[in-house]
Amino acid sequence: EKRSLRSEVRSLQNQVQELRGSIRVFCRIRPPRGAGAGAEGAPGNGFGVKAEGSRSVCLKKPPGDRRHDFNFDRVFNQQAGQRDLFEEVGPLLPGILEGIHVCIFAYGQTGAGKTYTLAGQRSSKQPGIQDLAIGDLLRLAKESFEVRLTALEIYNESIQDLLSTCEGASGPSRAPSERLEVRQSREGLTSDAETEEASPSPFGSMRVPGLKSWTVQDSADVEEALERVRTKRHVASTALNERSSRSHTVLSLSVLRRSAGTVEYLGVPVGVLHIVDLAGSERTKVSQAEGLQMKEANCINRSLSALADVLFALGDSSSSAHVPYRNSKLTYLLQDALGGPGCKTFLFAQVSPDAQDAHESYSTLTFAARVATSVQKGRLRLRTGNVSPSPRRELRERDSPSAREE
Ligand code: ADP
Ligand code: MG
Repeated sequence: EKRSLRSEVRSLQNQVQELRGSIRVFCRIRPPRGAGAGAEGAPGNGFGVKAEGSRSVCLKKPPGDRRHDFNFDRVFNQQAGQRDLFEEVGPLLPGILEGIHVCIFAYGQTGAGKTYTLAGQRSSKQPGIQDLAIGDLLRLAKESFEVRLTALEIYNESIQDLLSTCEGASGPSRAPSERLEVRQSREGLTSDAETEEASPSPFGSMRVPGLKSWTVQDSADVEEALERVRTKRHVASTALNERSSRSHTVLSLSVLRRSAGTVEYLGVPVGVLHIVDLAGSERTKVSQAEGLQMKEANCINRSLSALADVLFALGDSSSSAHVPYRNSKLTYLLQDALGGPGCKTFLFAQVSPDAQDAHESYSTLTFAARVATSVQKGRLRLRTGNVSPSPRRELRERDSPSAREE
């Protein structure tokens, strides 16, 4: 019995091995807005986006309802449930206990279902990918591992802790909390007060000094932590009006090995799962915005294109393309979890099927399909085998002499 279990574990490990270092791109189409009771305007027969089988999406947009087709690793239509999506992610979770780093991104315009996919819907008791993944990780971790959670928000290229207490946050006008910085700690460097943190960083060699981490043991702990995150985001959004759609939220679950009842502080966790709810991808016309709005629009535009550039470069990882991690806080922070050996990235491109959203859907689909295409090109080139698979590390070391400061 033990042997069959062991071989099962091994085959799982092999599966994980095979999936290592790759990016998978999915598209999820939300239900039409007219479908709900009491909603204004029936969906009608003109559509914007439609699934064509399980791997393609077709979009029609003006002028002239021209048809555009996009291909992905998998397409989830409006009937797809949360567990259908989780099917793609779940099998990789045991790999986190073996040391892989997983990043899950939700990309798309505001209202396209990013938060629904990741965090679920509490009113209808629909768990999100994040809830299902945390549940599985806790089950897998049991006595041998400890699971820790951190949550942060990147808003206007500045980082805030979503788990730290909002001391005295009684009024909506209160500033959410202090700004945190990302630092790069190099191996072999004598630890200074800043790198000598109580807990290992979920971001590998990248650290966010002062970021709180919570040890979670069961779903009650997780619920408490996530409730805190929601409250904190709510405070931030009443202060700055719907801020959640203009900031990136990064939830990270680190798995640490536990030996004889204590956690070993080895500096880095065994494996990590990052869940990233990106800012709405709708492009605010910078020319039409002013002041804070203009700054927000600029930051979102720049950080989403920085992410795009990193994913394009990583997708085609067989080429010796330079990976421009340093162009945004998000990619700078997540660089150790993106694209290296033992890293796995999932991108969920969220779109609305409605004709009136066709323009934004087009830009989301174009972005995601470009990432998918660069991944396929990379795979093809690897198969034909005239390039070395991972020139990235080397390049990065040469490229990043010190942490960027702004
Ligand atoms: P985003 O985070 O991209 O701005 P949300 O996840 O908040 O979008 O979704 C907007 C609204 O649509 C929410 O009320 C959400 O519950 C609903 N919604 C989104 N996707 C789905 C889905 N697949 N099934 C049912 N409702 C959905
Ligand atoms: Mg959202």
